[in-house]
Amino acid sequence: MSEKKRQKTERAPFDPVRHGLRADFRLTRFTKLKGWCKVPQEELLKLLAGLGSSLNISDGESLGAGLDCCVIPTRHEGISLVQTTDFFYPLVDDPYDQGRIACANVLSDLYAMGVTDCDNLLMLLGISTDLSKPERDVVTPLMMEGFRDCAEEAGTSVNGGQSVLNPWFIIGGVASSVCAKNEYIMPYNAVPGDVLVLTKALGTQIAVNAHQWIEQSETYQKIADVITKEGVRKAYESASASMSRLNRIGATLMRKYGAHGATDVTGFGLLGHAQNLAKCQKESVDFIIHSLPIIAGMSDTAKIAAKKIFDFKLHEGFSAETSGGLLIVLPKEKAGAFCQEIEELEGMPGWIIGDVTSGNHTAKIADDARVIEA
Ligand code: MG
Repeated sequence: MSEKKRQKTERAPFDPVRHGLRADFRLTRFTKLKGWCKVPQEELLKLLAGLGSSLNISDGESLGAGLDCCVIPTRHEGISLVQTTDFFYPLVDDPYDQGRIACANVLSDLYAMGVTDCDNLLMLLGISTDLSKPERDVVTPLMMEGFRDCAEEAGTSVNGGQSVLNPWFIIGGVASSVCAKNEYIMPYNAVPGDVLVLTKALGTQIAVNAHQWIEQSETYQKIADVITKEGVRKAYESASASMSRLNRIGATLMRKYGAHGATDVTGFGLLGHAQNLAKCQKESVDFIIHSLPIIAGMSDTAKIAAKKIFDFKLHEGFSAETSGGLLIVLPKEKAGAFCQEIEELEGMPGWIIGDVTSGNHTAKIADDARVIEA
């Protein structure tokens, strides 16, 4: 095991007291929206139209603002710039983990294009004005350290960015890769008979919210019939580990197994992103999702929360994910080997969750879709 990996594995969970802060210090209190900060999709598309840039495909070599990255041919023959940006609010209480998650999330859009190497990373940081000076001095360096360590693990580094004071905490960045044509995969080559593979389980949004509910006894009582506090903590830890994990191996395997396209599952939820991907396909295809891998315990929690607290629309495919998995279109005969190899390399499985059929550029979740507890 490398020294860095060893340090990461052995790093103790964040304890505010050990850092001289109050025991009830919670990073997630310095924002109102957790894992849920997207401008609604219809509203966003209208706004993007105002930019005057192409939303999707143009000539087969460039890609505009509608999908994960822009792919822009440069003035240098055969060389394109693949670039993306993202930022959001803290959704976990460990500042170091939050930094890692933000970095993994920014890089994920490059990985969704099959790009495995990021040439430059910028960091965007808004430090909450609601933090006291001692809190700021503890939290900000830890968050930056997490971001930096994750960048290093991705084989890149942070060279620039911007930091400001702001009412809510914000963290994110800009990732850029200068690519030859064989170093990225355009997302629009699905054909009937292909299958859909997902590389991380769903349910991060419900897990981070449930983790807050267990500190609010009245709210926790509403879900107590279906999950113990210990169960919520486990789901939160698995969500946090999943969100911190890079999609880089997934990107490498996309190229190895000849993916026909991909996206990553983030703010619009599984179905929102599947619909976006279906819309941009060259062939008239539909995506039919038959399986929903969900972090253990979160399927039942989401169902009861929908009745008693808030409906995240997890089973409908619209619950936001942060730093979610890659949703990859693969030739059917390659998908099994892809899933097997990703499990060998990452220790976490991938799942075949759907089919590509002839259709009309839509995506849907089958009525009899089954939940896989992950
Ligand atoms: Mg994306």
